[in-house]
Formats: sequence, structure tokens, C-alpha cells
Amino acid sequence: MMSSTNSSSPSNIEIKYTKIFINNEWHKAESGKTFSVINPSTGEEICQVEEANRVDVDKAVEAARKAFEIDSPWRKLEPSARGSLMRQFASFLRRDIDYLSKLETLNNGKPVEESIADINVSADCIDYYAGWVDKIVGETIPFSHDSFVYTRHEPVGICGQIIPWNYPIMMLTWKLGPALACGNVVILKPAEQTPLTALYCAALIKEAGFPPGVVNILPGDGPECGNAIAVHEHIDKIAFTGSVEIGKKIQIAAAQSNLKRVSLELGGKSPLIICEDADLDFAVNIAHRAIFNNAAQNCTAGTRTFVHAKIYDEFIARSVALTKKRVTGDPFDSNTKQGPQINESQFNKILDYIESGKKNGAKLECGGARVGNKGYFIQPTIFSGVEDQMQIAREEIFGPVMSILKFDSYDEVLTRANDTSFGLGAGVITKDLTRALSFAQRLQSGSVWVNDYDVICNQAPFGGFKQSGHGRELGRYGLEEYYEVKTVVIKLV
Ligand code: NAD
Repeated sequence: MMSSTNSSSPSNIEIKYTKIFINNEWHKAESGKTFSVINPSTGEEICQVEEANRVDVDKAVEAARKAFEIDSPWRKLEPSARGSLMRQFASFLRRDIDYLSKLETLNNGKPVEESIADINVSADCIDYYAGWVDKIVGETIPFSHDSFVYTRHEPVGICGQIIPWNYPIMMLTWKLGPALACGNVVILKPAEQTPLTALYCAALIKEAGFPPGVVNILPGDGPECGNAIAVHEHIDKIAFTGSVEIGKKIQIAAAQSNLKRVSLELGGKSPLIICEDADLDFAVNIAHRAIFNNAAQNCTAGTRTFVHAKIYDEFIARSVALTKKRVTGDPFDSNTKQGPQINESQFNKILDYIESGKKNGAKLECGGARVGNKGYFIQPTIFSGVEDQMQIAREEIFGPVMSILKFDSYDEVLTRANDTSFGLGAGVITKDLTRALSFAQRLQSGSVWVNDYDVICNQAPFGGFKQSGHGRELGRYGLEEYYEVKTVVIKLV
């Protein structure tokens, strides 16, 4: 279904920040270049933003180095005072949620209600990590009667952080939260498609009172700005969320430069297994949300829906009925459930995958085409009869395409579910506790959801097995990416 209007270009959303944020100041790009930021609902330009490149990255590194000097205001700040700054930033995110959510929707295209939800959990994420600042403790270690051995958890230093466009504010807070809690300094590059809310957050960070150079935000593209961060000799750690292809480049760049620490959160091709005992409407709703949430621009999207043969036909019928009712269109319309895809290249790529599904013999049950004639809207699409080797069952589509696969036995589906190079999320819908626990144990993925899907909370770790990445974000484990462990041995003479 299409929403009533499809013309979102709210001219009353003021764009306040379009420059590079270094040392708590706004800078023009050293190259003099700017780039165009597009509204995905219309395909039209919102504004031009300064484009950072290697020279600007060098400038940010200088500011960050100064901010990280041993006697700097940031290094000397009491942990609890660091936590207060973080809480202040979180409170500003909530204070400005009305404006920020509209800006996020304008730039990313997700429905306003979802932008609001994202900002609330993002503020919670910063608060969560603010609570950790004075609890990042080492250990005393028994060794010998005449020595004292202990560990200190020390910040890694200058952290490069490269984030994607699917959750612009949330990804920023997932990255900043643990880095700042541990006392690091940061150079963050938002995705070139969605720099606007990150730049607004930069202004909030300054307003909160963070010392200059602690957080630097550099809009720019991947090959220039992102790569300059990845290869930089004085950046100590890099955290990346995005595609597997670029994740591999980042890891190589880190190895070939200064062996900076690397954490990667990459793609997925996550299975959701619907067992024969599942309540059907319950399962249909979860599977629907698992794939179509955020226009399916989710690394955890439940893109392979495995359905037991006994309920297969009925599951398809009910899923199609639900999906045909999904309102796609203007993300500023409160009835809308699904906005546009992020840009033209993602839009075309998704339509190509839909063609490949048809060509490979999957049955198109609904959707399959664009919505309207401007912007990057795609109908929520369902294929049934999907086979494991089809391209749509193997590759990350990052678009609203549900692939339904039939299975007969639980051993068989487990093998098929694990037969992928990814391992980010997995779900199982069943009333049988033993079966649920057995799947939870045997599925190869960083998260397993039982009778739910894509439940991600600030308190629990999130990350991937296999080529979905390494390292964990969120929770206590998320901190481990951002501190070095120093062992101190003192001879008691
Ligand atoms: P991408 O991996 O190219 O971009 C993600 C981030 O990496 C952006 O900030 C980008 O500027 C930066 N980047 C790109 N090239 C770089 C380089 N050489 N060095 C350093 N940084 C670089 O992703 P994309 O092109 O926007 O989307 C392509 C596919 O990636 C999607 O279809 C989807 O499959 C996947 N993706 C995954 C996630 C996720 O959350 N895991 C998010 C976005 C995209």
C-alpha cells in the first residue's frame, strides 16, 4: 500500500551544520570541496556539506593527539565527571528530539516514529556507558609473596570510527559511548549519505562541555576520508560498521599501516526458523518485522525465512496478506511504515536482486516493483519457493525482499541455516523449550532470538560470527574494544 502523500521535502527543517567539526570548531574542507546530501524520498538535494579528505584527517589527528596528552583536561578529568559530560550529551539528544528526529527522517528516509525511537535508545546508550566510567576496573593478581601484581585498563588512544547510513544517530552513539567511557578521543566519519544528524550531534557534544579535540566529526566519502582514517599511522584503533567488502579493506589497511586495533560489524544473511508448533499469526508478524523493519536496511534482517512444510502454505498466505497492507511512502506521514531506500544505487541493486529471484525460479508472491515515480521507494516483496543456492538466498540484499524457504526436518534446517559465510543474527519461533535451546546452542551467530527477533539492547553484546565481523558492541563486552590492559608488577623490596 502507498501512503496518501509522497512528497516529503519539508522545507521548514533548518540545516544548521554542514562543516567539518575539529577541535570543537567548524572548518571548511582544506580542498575547498563540498558534496551533495540527498533526500531519499525525493532524490533532490538537501544541501552541500564540506568534504573532508586526508589533510582534514591529519588536522583532526593533531587535535585528538593534543586532547589525549597525558596532562590534558580530558585525561585529568575524574571518571565521574566524564560520565557527567556524557549524561549531558544524552540529555541534549532527548531535549532536541523533535528537531533531530525530523532531520534524521529528512536525510535517511525512515518514518519519524522510528527516528524518535532510535534517538531514545541512542540517548539511553550514552547514559548506559556513562554509568560504566567509574567501574572500568583492573585486577590484583596473586603471583608471589614479595611482589604486587595488578592490571590497569587504559584508553587505547585515538579511535577512528566509520559508520553507515542505516541508523545514523544510533551508530554514532554505539561508537561514541564505549570509546568515551574508557577515556579515548575520537575521529568519527558518518556515512556520506547521512552526515546531517552526526554534525548536529557534534554541536551537542560541544554544548555539553567536552574539551576540544575529544570528539571530531568529519563528513566525507569512503575511499578518501574513510581510507585516510584506516591507514593513518597515528590512529590507534578503528571501529567500522558497513559492508564485508569494505570491512576487509579496513582490516588490510590497519595491518599495512600501524597494526591499529580493529573491530568490525558487517553484514548478515540471517535465518529465521518457523517451527510447525508456532502460533501462526504470531510467527507471521515476527517474520514480517524481522525483514521489513527499517526498509530492510538492517544488518540483522531476517532475510531467510525457513518455514516448516506443514504450515508453509498458510504461512505464505497470511504473510502476503499482511505485507500487502504495509504502507510505503512519505516518511513524514504518520501512517507510513516503510520509507525509501537510502539512495539510487541501493534502489537499483535491490531491483536487480528481485529480477534475479524471478529469473532463478522463485515465486514472486507480492511486491517486486518501485512505489511512485520519484524517490527510492520499493514495494515490500515476498518470494516463496526460494532455494538455498539462489542469489537472493545467499547475498545480502539490504532491501525489502522476504525469501521464504521450506524445510521438513530440524536437523536439515539447522545445517541449511548455518550454511552461510555470515553469522550475525538468527531466530527461532517455537513453543518447544528443548527445541529452542537446542537451536540456540547450535546456530552459528552472534545473537539468537527465540520467539522474537532483532531485540538489541544497550546492556547486551552485539556482533558477528564468521564474516559478519569481529569484536562486540554494546554491553560490558563493548568496552573491551576500547581499553588496553596494562600489567604492573612491583617487587616488594
Ligand atoms: P559501505 O561499507 O561502503 O559504507 C559504510 C561506511 O564505510 C561509510 O561511512 C563509507 O563512507 C565507508 N567507506 C566506504 N569505503 C571505504 C574505504 N575504502 N575505507 C574506509 N571507509 C570506507 O556500505 P554502502 O556502500 O553504503 O552499502 C553497501 C552494502 O553494505 C549494503 O548493501 C549492505 O549490504 C552493507 N551495509 C551494511 C551495514 C551494516 O549495518 N552492517 C550498513 C550499511 C551497509
